[in-house]
Amino acid sequence: MPRSERLVRDLVRRTLDAARAAGPDAVAPIVQAGHPVLRAVARPYDGELEPDELTELLALMHRTMRAAPGVGLAAPQIGIPSAVAVVEDPGAGDDEVVRVRERAGLAYRVLVNPSYAPVDGDEVAFYEGCLSVVGYQAVVVRARSVHLTGLDEAGVPVDEVVRGWPARIVQHETDHLRGTLYVDRALTRSLSATDAWGAHWGAEPVPLEAARALGFELPRTARGSAGEERR
Ligand code: ZN
Repeated sequence: MPRSERLVRDLVRRTLDAARAAGPDAVAPIVQAGHPVLRAVARPYDGELEPDELTELLALMHRTMRAAPGVGLAAPQIGIPSAVAVVEDPGAGDDEVVRVRERAGLAYRVLVNPSYAPVDGDEVAFYEGCLSVVGYQAVVVRARSVHLTGLDEAGVPVDEVVRGWPARIVQHETDHLRGTLYVDRALTRSLSATDAWGAHWGAEPVPLEAARALGFELPRTARGSAGEERR
């Protein structure tokens, strides 16, 4: 077994031991920006865990994501440099923000060794945040639809188009596995402390006023589709 594979397996075993010791509802500590594991390229998962260990790790990640609460969690966020992530979005009601973001909800699923590619040039610009960059939100321009490939937790190939807010979640989590944080892709002048974001921009479906007031520019591709959707 290669050294990096053994490293992942040992880290997982230590993480699971700590969680077991803390009880059945234990969650894992989420590491914050500045921790080098968030900047490493995660090792493609290659069956280095026993099936029971993988199941237990995914259950721990699922509990940790829900407790945060969040809509996605990548293994590096709990200190494990392996290309595995979990996603789940219950959706957020039926207001205009939700409709414009196309946030219909996303059933719990596991992404193993995922990749994505934009389906076309259609982009959308919305505020997003990260469990590993606590306290901030920023606008990220992302593809509205992506072609998602990879595997599920059973090793079954995934090959599908994901659209709307779920596409944003998939891109954010897959980026984590490459050592990329959303702040790397953000329009930096949009950066807002979460309280300030909530007070000023949280209710704005597309960050047009935020762009004007904070002095950042939405790309024309994003602005165009966002403008149409608003009406
Ligand atoms: Zn994140």
